[in-house]
Amino acid sequence: MANQFEVVLEVGGEGGSITLYGVSSENGWRFSRTTEESALGDIADRPTDSLVRKSKVVDSWEEALQLVQRYPWYRLSPRKVHPDFAAKVWKEVVNRLDWMDHGRDLNRWSRVCFGDGGALGELSLLMKKSQSTVILTGAGMSTESDIPDFRSKDGWWRNIDPTTVATVDALKENYSLFHEFYQMRIENLESRVPSGGHYILAKWEEQGLIDCVATQNVDGFHQAAGSKEVYELHGSIRTIRCHDCQSPASIDEFVAGDRCSQCGGKLRPNLVLFGELLPRDAWERALAAIRQADLVVVIGSSLQVSPVNTLPSLTSGKVAIINAEETEQDEMFDIVIHGKAGEVLPKLDEVLG
Ligand code: NAD
Ligand code: ZN
Repeated sequence: MANQFEVVLEVGGEGGSITLYGVSSENGWRFSRTTEESALGDIADRPTDSLVRKSKVVDSWEEALQLVQRYPWYRLSPRKVHPDFAAKVWKEVVNRLDWMDHGRDLNRWSRVCFGDGGALGELSLLMKKSQSTVILTGAGMSTESDIPDFRSKDGWWRNIDPTTVATVDALKENYSLFHEFYQMRIENLESRVPSGGHYILAKWEEQGLIDCVATQNVDGFHQAAGSKEVYELHGSIRTIRCHDCQSPASIDEFVAGDRCSQCGGKLRPNLVLFGELLPRDAWERALAAIRQADLVVVIGSSLQVSPVNTLPSLTSGKVAIINAEETEQDEMFDIVIHGKAGEVLPKLDEVLG
């Protein structure tokens, strides 16, 4: 069955409208324009008498744009934008409307292109304008790599209370449970790889769009995806040391349940347990970067773990959060996007591209 023409872009003014239709097939999209010109004469700078005009059918997006570009379509009210063309349309609009003079119009376009109150378009503009952007990630960044987070519905904590396991007390008093928990987390990591979102952040660093990633995650996926400037605020699960004499040991020794070969002490991952201090170097670098940033973007964190949850409030720049669900701190953010990193970041990347 032949595919139907769908609305790709519809804009309207008083008594007139321009609609770009598209139909997709194996060979890609084809486009056609309908113009209802009763009142468009004003903006088209020439008199019009006919009511509805149809264009020829064209085969490429560039030609489709030429069909609508006979009119300053971006100055009309956006009514509908096909999701597949949201980023393309948004880029055309942003190239033509200045944020200072047309902030409201841009927000309207962003809402129609991306939904969600226009937040995604707004964030893309902030990212372009920002001289210094810092990303702060949490466990939600890695759920799409199949690493469960701690606090959302499918988190670890439903079965195991982390406060009883990820603590120095557990290490000292209940080492077998402590060991079992981290052995499970290390083994779980073996077959997992970074997600698309991790790779997008690495690309943004290379493109100069972001300065660094400060992360609460201990899985090492940011570096594995190619991010260079990464501050691991909660350490790493990928290296092991002796809790007593601090000598390094191997993952294999830890998984096998061995004791420290130097002093017989208990082995543990190099991550921060509840009640322990954060690694000073990572903390200070993250803090310095966040303080002077124009923009801090939190991705996938419930912002319940202190002191990292205080970091967004310490910047003098703008703050944005991308998280699957509401957090208690949503109100302090300039931009809030509720969505999965794996869906929001590719969209943002396309818009920025
Ligand atoms: P958290 O579990 O408290 O919160 C995660 C948040 O991410 C939740 O609000 C959840 O709704 C959201 N989320 C889940 N999937 C998402 C997705 N695909 N896209 C966007 N958001 C998503 O985690 P936290 O705030 O990082 O703090 C908890 C502690 O957990 C930290 O100390 C961290 O060290 C540790 N932790 C690390 C890992 C890891 O290294 N991958 C995994 C679990 C926990
Ligand atoms: Zn030791």
